Amino acid sequence: MKKLVAITGASSGIGKALAYKFAKEGHPVLLMARRVEILEKFDIKDKVCAKVDVQNIDEIKNAIKLAEKKYGPVDCMINNAGIMFLNLFHEQPLQHKYDMLDVNVKGVINGIDAVLNDMLKRKDGTIINISSIGGRWIFRNHAIYNGSKFAVNAITEGVRKEVAGSNVRFSSVEPGMVNTDILSRTDDKEILKDYNDEKWSIGGGLTTDNTADLCYYIYSLPQMVNIKEVVITHTNDGN
Ligand code: NDP
Repeated sequence: MKKLVAITGASSGIGKALAYKFAKEGHPVLLMARRVEILEKFDIKDKVCAKVDVQNIDEIKNAIKLAEKKYGPVDCMINNAGIMFLNLFHEQPLQHKYDMLDVNVKGVINGIDAVLNDMLKRKDGTIINISSIGGRWIFRNHAIYNGSKFAVNAITEGVRKEVAGSNVRFSSVEPGMVNTDILSRTDDKEILKDYNDEKWSIGGGLTTDNTADLCYYIYSLPQMVNIKEVVITHTNDGN
């Protein structure tokens, strides 16, 4: 059996596509999300499903323990869980701001923390953090989301440099617009219209499979090859 791959936010969108891609390539997968009932219905044989809120590191660690008992150490951790509330800073509720930082930044810190020391001991492993083009360029209505993804890029690069020489790989994957449920937390009709107009002007955005295939490619290269950072967008995206 191939090595264990752990994915946060696996219940929808990019995370779901990651689950199916890595499973199709023969890897047992640890699938984590709050809506565990969705994960349990996935047509994947070698899987462990766990109800995990990435804001809680103990839930991540317990899920990993459970999966590792069955399938051996986590060889690849994909920190994918993330949320986006679009709004102007001065109109956005404080709680939405904090929630984005807690899930998008603290969630990634927790995901790294839960596996890194073991990977360093084993001198093996890959950590892929799903960032965004919002971690590279600033967009209207995205101030806090932008801030959270800039943080993901900075943390990924910083830790990667600290552990260089340990044979543990770190990658930051930065997609442009992908067709998922990520807009479901934004209810302002005008903001949604602007976002969707932009998306349709470039042909509708990427599919979730495009990002999952890229992550698998990054992981499938020999361990001595580290793709450190990738921006992936629709070809017509002018950013
Ligand atoms: P979706 O809304 O489709 O999926 C988000 C996933 O994150 C769900 O599985 C959800 O599961 C999970 N999640 C949310 N909050 C938590 C939490 N507190 N604990 C655990 N899991 C959580 O969005 P996407 O697939 O689009 O998003 C995936 C990643 O891709 C995010 O990091 C996003 O920022 C990034 N991204 C998305 C882009 C896009 O255009 N869609 C572009 C660039 C980057 P559940 O609710 O069951 O917990």
